[in-house]
Amino acid sequence: MFPIELNNRQERIVEIVKDFGPITGEQIAEQLDLTRATLRPDLAILTMAGYLDARPRVGYFYTGKTSAQLLTEKIRQIKVKDYLSLPVVVQESSTVYDAICTMFLEDVGTLFVVNKEAKLAGVLSRKDLLRASMGNQDLNSIPVTIIMTRMPNITVCTKDDFLIDVAEKLIDKQIDAVPVVKDTEKEVDLEVIGRITKTNITKALVDFSGDAII
Ligand code: ADP
Repeated sequence: MFPIELNNRQERIVEIVKDFGPITGEQIAEQLDLTRATLRPDLAILTMAGYLDARPRVGYFYTGKTSAQLLTEKIRQIKVKDYLSLPVVVQESSTVYDAICTMFLEDVGTLFVVNKEAKLAGVLSRKDLLRASMGNQDLNSIPVTIIMTRMPNITVCTKDDFLIDVAEKLIDKQIDAVPVVKDTEKEVDLEVIGRITKTNITKALVDFSGDAII
């Protein structure tokens, strides 16, 4: 759960725990003139969101974390697997013309090129294809393998990587997308299982901004 906008009662609970913690749920309830059962959902929310911590037989105490700190922590925990899109691939045998058609039809900005074994061979960006289209060549006769950025120069990630680390890679390398591969331990024969683009990262930002900070 993300940091949330606290209601009045939750704010009062946080204040009580700040002043008197560690304090039991029963004691908090007494101070608010409510029953322990009534408070249970609020205490669960405050604990899950990270404002309070609970220790058995000790009670609740204040973590000291501001909602901005909690939000930062949550953002740093987002994984690639939470936001990845399906990869759009073309075969190594494709021509530049085929790749341009695929890019339009699939409405993506980056294509991944795979070899006969369906393993990652290259990346094609919009500008790679534009550049290839600038001369007077017949685009049906230029193989994508001539113009693609090829392995091992491709920046990749796995589904268990943190999204923020991929965002940093996009900025560092000045690229728009990275393929999500199954396993980066071996550096060859990578299987492409997804993609992360600037759009996925923008989506994560929008999702998290919906969770108001106090
Ligand atoms: P555009 O060319 O449309 O600005 P990018 O910024 O994504 O798009 O691509 C810039 C260059 O980097 C292109 O030549 C492209 O082939 C290459 N590239 C794109 N993605 C990657 C990647 N994940 N790893 C390595 N090179 C990449």
